[in-house]
Amino acid sequence: RAKSEARGSFRFFEPEMDARLQARRLMERDLRDALAREAFEVYYQPIYSLGTERICGFEALLRWNHPGRGFVSPAEFIPIAEELGLIVPLGEWVLRRACEEASRWPDGLKIAVNVSAVQFTSASLVTAVRETLRATGLPGRRLELEITESVLVANPGATTAILHSLRAMGVRVSMDDFGTGYSSLSYLRSFPFDKIKIDQAFVRDLGATDGTDFIVRAVIGLGASLGMTTTAEGVETEAQLARLRAEGCDEVQGYLFSRPVPITQVPAVIQRWNGAARAIA
Ligand code: C2E
Ligand code: MG
Ligand code: MG
Ligand code: MG
Repeated sequence: RAKSEARGSFRFFEPEMDARLQARRLMERDLRDALAREAFEVYYQPIYSLGTERICGFEALLRWNHPGRGFVSPAEFIPIAEELGLIVPLGEWVLRRACEEASRWPDGLKIAVNVSAVQFTSASLVTAVRETLRATGLPGRRLELEITESVLVANPGATTAILHSLRAMGVRVSMDDFGTGYSSLSYLRSFPFDKIKIDQAFVRDLGATDGTDFIVRAVIGLGASLGMTTTAEGVETEAQLARLRAEGCDEVQGYLFSRPVPITQVPAVIQRWNGAARAIA
């Protein structure tokens, strides 16, 4: 049986893997080239505080405008950049660009930057953050780093020390995509996060299944009792927003408020939500 399965998978392997490897090599070449030419852009999505009813910051989201393929999703190219060892320079580029832009925004607005597992535990992260804050003049309290559970799985020992060094600079750290990994609860107990971002998969199913509603309620309660802020990702409808508000979620983010926008549109987004005469959605 094992033999026939092996033979079956071998047949599948030959042509398809070849094509995939080929595509992959092209992607690698393009990615190196793009980094050299700085062919990336940072988009910004507002994060809305339900406490103040104002935008309290933006999340920086990387965009790669590929010459032949148009916008390539970060979900597609970040894992490749990690494997190629390009994620550290790429991540530092995003950090620098996002902090530079944010240093020009009104003082109340924070900037959240995603950091991959490889970058977070690299020897240079703390130095890069310190140097970026110094160079851009952004106060540490206005910077948040978003990490996923894979960081903790990869290197729990180093993580604690890094979290403390960041905290000493006033920089906050969020647990991104909460609820999609392996052992979220034990990580929350062991690591001093400032914020939990409830994954959009849960937000999407709000109101559709009782189980989801109970989980979201529990996570918000958990965050509150651990002294962590909760942010819901992927809020697309008024009904989802109403439920999150009723459950006491602190912050929300999603297409209902705004899609991620290029830097040129950030002032209009701020004006729309925080301006003197606020427009209604
Ligand atoms: P994430 O950090 O969880 O970011 C949220 C993703 O949800 C973003 O996708 C955002 O555009 C999308 N989103 C926001 N609101 C909505 C909504 O209402 N509905 C739906 N369906 N989606 C929404 P994006 O920009 O494609 O990024 C995907 C992931 O790639 C991010 O997930 C993050 O893990 C990673 N990523 C993005 N930029 C960077 C970066 O600069 N560095 C690293 N290491 N990772 C990044
Ligand atoms: Mg994120
Ligand atoms: Mg997320
Ligand atoms: Mg995600």
